Amino acid sequence: MKKIYFFLIAAILILIIAVVGIRTVTVQNVLIDFDFNRQWNNQDKLVTFDGDYLIGLVCGSRGPLPGKGRAEPCIMIKTPDHMFVVDTGDGSRQNLTNWSINLGNLDAVLLTHLHSDHISDLADFHLYSWVTQNRGKKLPVYGPLGTNLVTEGITKAYELDTEWRTLHHGEEVAPSNFAGFDTKIINLNDPVIYDDGKLKITAFEVEHFPVDPSLGYRFDYKGRSIVISGDTDYSENLVKQSKNADLLFHDALSHNMIGRLEEISEDTNPLLSTVFYDIQDYHASPIEAAQAANEANVKELIFYHLTPAPQNFIAKIIFVRGVNEVRPDNWTLADDGTMAILPIESEDITITNIQ
Ligand SMILES: [Zn+2]
Ligand SMILES: [Zn+2]
Repeated sequence: MKKIYFFLIAAILILIIAVVGIRTVTVQNVLIDFDFNRQWNNQDKLVTFDGDYLIGLVCGSRGPLPGKGRAEPCIMIKTPDHMFVVDTGDGSRQNLTNWSINLGNLDAVLLTHLHSDHISDLADFHLYSWVTQNRGKKLPVYGPLGTNLVTEGITKAYELDTEWRTLHHGEEVAPSNFAGFDTKIINLNDPVIYDDGKLKITAFEVEHFPVDPSLGYRFDYKGRSIVISGDTDYSENLVKQSKNADLLFHDALSHNMIGRLEEISEDTNPLLSTVFYDIQDYHASPIEAAQAANEANVKELIFYHLTPAPQNFIAKIIFVRGVNEVRPDNWTLADDGTMAILPIESEDITITNIQ
């Protein structure tokens, strides 16, 4: 009995010290220091590993339909010496900065196509790689025909913002000559868009009519490879370009779920029902994506750009209905933070989550 009283009094004392302590400047400063260290020191720690490797990190796993806890499409590709981001959907920049990733190390942004859910954070990627982050150049953006309209539009819309940041913080912090974009329009007659002898990036066309062209990208690094589909229906060209790749990120729209939504909204919201009908013909279903991965002999498949974004384990079961019959193993439904690590000189693929 005495022991219980002792622990009770100790617990009350600790609580009083904590409540009082939290109001003192010293304790508050320790907490501020701790948070600063977590956010700003040791950046890129969560995507840095021993040895040599290729990483694919999902910085946005949903399509444009709402989905709590998920950003719109974004995949980061990283090696010890390279950092690329494919698409910059809403919420993706915040994910990456929350994970303490230094966007000043970005080599370039690659856009698969110019639908809003793939470009809406581009201005933020520009800002967060520019101020204090030592980008050291304008932000290179590769994309299909029309990408210049996006980068020129953002430059115009943010003209005063960038000007004021340089005026306020000075040229050293916000160098005016590095503000803006270095836009590179991809010509599919010359599909290798980057090759430094270690990492090769190849662009290819996929099926997302009426978006023309819509691109996918293949990354080859020292014998390891990752392919990103962008938005596509089942695509023979994607199968061809993904041949024997280690990992394929493929968009997926659940026809089970969207078909049902189309049906039940027909009377109550016919315009929305039309949208649900329309979007089914330009995204692959999970089963079609699994078939594409099998035909391409891809080792690992990660579904992303999930439409609609599954919010719980039951929705996840419905989303992937039928996939196991086509591809029993080696597939994953992405969440934000899903990360695939491919060590060099190995066959291993480790799927984990950065969060
Ligand atoms: Zn999309
Ligand atoms: Zn699209």
